[in-house]
This record gives sequence, structure tokens and C-alpha cells, in this order.
Amino acid sequence: LEKAIEDDQLFLVYQPFLNLLENRVTGFEALLRWRHPERGLVPPDEFIGIAEESGLIHSIGERVLRSACAMLSQWPNDIRVAVNISAVQFQNVTLLSHVTKALTDAGVSPGRLEIEMTESTSIAKYVSTESVVKALAELGVTISLDDFGTGFSSLTYLRKLPFERVKIDQSFVREMLMNSDCEAIVKSVIGLARDMGMDVVAEGVESRDQLDFLIQAKCKEAQGYFIGRPMTGDQATALLAGARGGKVWAAA
Ligand code: C2E
Ligand code: MG
Ligand code: MG
Repeated sequence: LEKAIEDDQLFLVYQPFLNLLENRVTGFEALLRWRHPERGLVPPDEFIGIAEESGLIHSIGERVLRSACAMLSQWPNDIRVAVNISAVQFQNVTLLSHVTKALTDAGVSPGRLEIEMTESTSIAKYVSTESVVKALAELGVTISLDDFGTGFSSLTYLRKLPFERVKIDQSFVREMLMNSDCEAIVKSVIGLARDMGMDVVAEGVESRDQLDFLIQAKCKEAQGYFIGRPMTGDQATALLAGARGGKVWAAA
């Protein structure tokens, strides 16, 4: 992995967020990939853990922030980029300087950068991450809670940390049309987010029926293979420049 960083084998792909009220692409989530010379394309689940244990996650994270912000500088001002940050990264104050430097070098305003923190890990380490998360929020960066529902789903932390957006985990979205418990969870999280003044994104939307359900349920944004697979930065740029200004999906 160390050599992969040196040899520039890590790169980002971008998956769009679709605003369901405006039927418009509002931004992209940056997702890490490793193009291994022998093993081919390696997904992040297979190497992020190793990066966290070895400490390499800090230099990887710095590169991720730098390239995501550089990409963002080429997109219109109303477009955002979301970057995934591990719990381990929140425990190191250099994260703050990496974020500030990436934003300054790219010349983009902090409000266009979103930091996704995964619920399952981050909340457990809440005490040590709180000050860093708050400092990031003070910089003007948006903080979102990823994979909501898979960890402790602690409503106390939802209230104490400055989250502006909650992402409903794809496991609930996948089953919401077949399983009434999942349907109830999805609807409740949408309502909870709305009443707490937070935005909400449904992850893992794979069908027209799921998208229609979310529109009915007044979910603000959606993400998933049905809307767009993770794509190269150039493809994302082309999507935004498309004739319909990113309005690629008919609302009905
Ligand atoms: P995540 O942040 O929850 O990202 C969503 C994952 O679901 C992505 O997998 C994405 O490709 C996949 N996905 C999106 N839409 C669909 C869909 O409709 N159906 C299905 N089945 N899957 C969908 P990916 O890219 O393999 O990333 C896995 C996880 O690795 C991410 O979960 C995130 O936690 C982590 N990760 C990715 N990039 C980074 C990074 O730069 N830094 C850190 N620390 N973690 C990262
Ligand atoms: Mg994410
Ligand atoms: Mg997620």
C-alpha cells in the first residue's frame, strides 16, 4: 500500500447526489480506488482497514482531500464534493490542516466541502473526535453522518455533533419496499432529519420504484446505481455540462 501511494495507484471516482425536489445533481461523493498492477481494481473495503492500522490513512486522506478539492474547483459553485473520513483520521489534528490546505490550494469555499463520518466507528470514539469535528464545522465545512442506522444510532450524538446531513444506510433502502420495518425506519429517519433541520440522503437506490418511494416520502436527496455509478472526474464534469444541466433523470 505504501508503494501504491508512491506509484500513484490510488485514485478517486465520483458518485452523484440527486436532489429529488429539484431533480438536479447537487454534488458528488469521492470514493477511493486502487488500481493494482496484478490484482486489478481493489475496492476500499479491502484496504482502508490496513491503511487505518498502519497509519497510512493520514497521507492517503491528505491526497484524497487534495484531489477532491482540485476536482471541485472545476465544477460550478453550487456543486459540492463529499469526502469520507475514518474515525482514525479524526483523532489526529493534522486533519484540520489537511482540510484547510486542500481548500486554499484549490481556491474553493469551505461550504462546498462535505465530510462524511461513518456512524458505526465515529460515534464510539465520540469523545476524542468531538473537538476536531466542531473545528471543521467552524471552518464552514459541512459534516454528514454516513451509514446512519448501522451503528449505535445514538440520538444524543446526533444532537451534540454539528451534523448538517444524515445518510440513510443502503441496507434499509434495499429492503424498504419488501420489509415494513425497513420502510418504517426510512420514513422515520426522513422525518427526524426534517424536524431537526438536517438534510437527508438515501444511499443505494437501485431502482425506479425505490426512487419513486423516496420522492413520495419527501426524501431530499438520493444516491445509488440507479441514479449514477461511481464515475471518473471527467465523466462527472461531462455530466454537469450536459445539455440539461445535470437534469438527466426525468422526475416521473
Ligand atoms: P460509503 O461511504 O457508504 O460509500 C457507499 C458505497 O456504496 C460505495 O462503495 C459505493 O460504490 C457503493 N454504492 C453506491 N451506490 C450503490 C448501489 O446502488 N448499490 C450498491 N450495492 N452499492 C452502492 P465503495 O466505493 O466500495 O466504498 C466502500 C466504503 O469505503 C465507503 O462506504 C466508505 O466508507 C469507504 N471509503 C471509500 N472511499 C474512502 C476514502 O477516501 N477514505 C475513507 N476513509 N474511506 C473511504
Ligand atoms: Mg460515504
Ligand atoms: Mg454510506
